[in-house]
Amino acid sequence: MTSKTQEPFRIAVVGGGIGGLFCALAIHHHCSGAGIPLHIDVYEQASEYKEIGAGVGLGINAARLVHKLRLGERLNSFAGDRTGVWITFRRYNDSGEIVTIPVHDKETVRQAPCARSDLLDMLRGAVEERGAARLHTGKKCMGVEDLEKGVRLRFADSLTAEADLVIGCDGIHSALRNQFVVDKPVFSGQIAYRGVVPTKSLPNWPFESWSVLWSAKHRHFLVFPIARNEELNVVAFITKPEKEVADVKESWTSICDRKDVYADFKGFDKPVQDIIDLMPEQPSKWRLNDREPLDRWHYFDGKVILLGDAAHAMLPHLGAGAGQSMEDGWVLGRALGEHLSGHTGSNFTSLQTTARLYQDVRLPRAQKTQATSRAAGNTYEMQTPDMLELSFEECIPLIAKRTGERMKSVWEEDLDATYERVRDEGAQRVASGTSKQSPTSGALATGQGEGIEVE
Ligand SMILES: Cc1cc2nc3c(=O)[nH]c(=O)nc-3n(C[C@H](O)[C@H](O)[C@H](O)COP(=O)(O)OP(=O)(O)OC[C@H]3O[C@@H](n4cnc5c(N)ncnc54)[C@H](O)[C@@H]3O)c2cc1C
Repeated sequence: MTSKTQEPFRIAVVGGGIGGLFCALAIHHHCSGAGIPLHIDVYEQASEYKEIGAGVGLGINAARLVHKLRLGERLNSFAGDRTGVWITFRRYNDSGEIVTIPVHDKETVRQAPCARSDLLDMLRGAVEERGAARLHTGKKCMGVEDLEKGVRLRFADSLTAEADLVIGCDGIHSALRNQFVVDKPVFSGQIAYRGVVPTKSLPNWPFESWSVLWSAKHRHFLVFPIARNEELNVVAFITKPEKEVADVKESWTSICDRKDVYADFKGFDKPVQDIIDLMPEQPSKWRLNDREPLDRWHYFDGKVILLGDAAHAMLPHLGAGAGQSMEDGWVLGRALGEHLSGHTGSNFTSLQTTARLYQDVRLPRAQKTQATSRAAGNTYEMQTPDMLELSFEECIPLIAKRTGERMKSVWEEDLDATYERVRDEGAQRVASGTSKQSPTSGALATGQGEGIEVE
């Protein structure tokens, strides 16, 4: 183990988004405390570490991890104060209440809907302040090669680098995943118009720090406050046939005319029309994809590991993808810290077993969240099989019933306790000589269009 030889352990993080930067910080946090010599390099394909526009809702599970990294105060300072409600669901045509879901969020550790740029800037700044990793830009990773000792990374600029461990945090179109897995992003049947509008331009806006979702058949319009509640993040979802949206990409470069938003949300109540009035003249038009579940997140004997959207891209209907990537980083950081310092004893001495431990802790939960995200989108738009033949009015009580408790499993898991349980069960199995099957997947398919509420 590294601690005995004092050789710095070399980690290459591919992708400097929320998942990659959080992962670098978490590994540094868990390893630097134990005095483990490390070199972490983050390789980002873009020319700078930057998120464009829009917001991201961090649930309390993810916010808790940010606090554990001693960045919680900063997070709260740009997310702003909350006022005891997570979200209110409204009828599309008259804004009548369907259900309003309270949340305990007056404590220091609380929900943190925020601007993606604020979050990324905070993570990048912390990496730099702490000397947690070297940040590279313009480094598009094209693939990896297994070496006798370590892994070689190949970049688009024809240069190479070597590391003992490569962590693929390169998003839903991950080049690393594509090297090991033959699959493609799956179109959800939905696209989303995205934008950010100033709250103060909406006279008498009544939902100061709440998310609001107006629900209709095949469409739903979501806003949530970001930037100290000074702005509203807008995501307007609509179901479209694949042939109509063939040219729409998952990218900020994919834009449209605002009149498309008016047309698709015709009949929605005045607050929605007022928000559309404030959207940019060319809002972003985003294709919503996810991935099928992947049973294996580690390759080359544990020397290559997938994390975040690269491992489990999910639809945005629970606002959980970024939080799940942060959970990955936290658990991987703990597992590596214990492996490299020898804390976990003889059971996790290899990278292979350490990678298995990371996967065994994270995969079942991430896949359940993927499945629940699909199910949630179908519910909000009244597209579950049991709702398809029902009228709008008949669907309303079903939405109210199915949304109330949905976030419990995402927000309330004690991640460290789960990690310790899975680790200790693994250790016991090794001690008793029984082998371990990796967790099985397959739950995801049940969430797509079958009306099954995965909770
Ligand atoms: C409409 C929408 C709304 C969402 N809302 C929420 C929300 O409210 N809450 C939430 O938690 N999640 C939300 N998500 C999901 C969330 O955005 C993602 O789950 C999260 O960003 C994943 O982080 P990541 O770091 O794994 O991937 P990404 O954020 O995609 O970052 C990947 C990084 O890797 C870089 N990269 C890619 N390929 C390479 C390569 N070959 N070499 C080097 N670098 C590379 C990219 O440039 C990028 O910087 C939403 C998603 C969408 C589409």
